[in-house]
Amino acid sequence: MDIVDLQLRLRAFAQAREWEPFLTPKNLAMALVVEAAELVEIFQWKTAEESISLDAASQEHLGEEIADVLMYLLQIADRSGVDVASAVERKLRLNAIKYPAPPSPHTA
Ligand SMILES: [Mg+2]
Repeated sequence: MDIVDLQLRLRAFAQAREWEPFLTPKNLAMALVVEAAELVEIFQWKTAEESISLDAASQEHLGEEIADVLMYLLQIADRSGVDVASAVERKLRLNAIKYPAPPSPHTA
């Protein structure tokens, strides 16, 4: 999956429908939270065990909501000038510093 290609496709989708004036970072962030809530709703009231073994319909629904969340996230980054790949690489480095892995028992 090419992140920039996806962002260009999302931009073209919005342009073709003349939605661009509405796709501000603020509106996209609000839409992202709504989609995240739709994702959470799939797991609402399920036990931990049920949440890792969804039925086929729920699994398909989960994929749709993950796609919705990801597409809004990519559009927020596109509209805000954030390079997603660079931001993720930077955050992974910061997290590795903040949460160092315990020493492996196999290293001396
Ligand atoms: Mg949705």
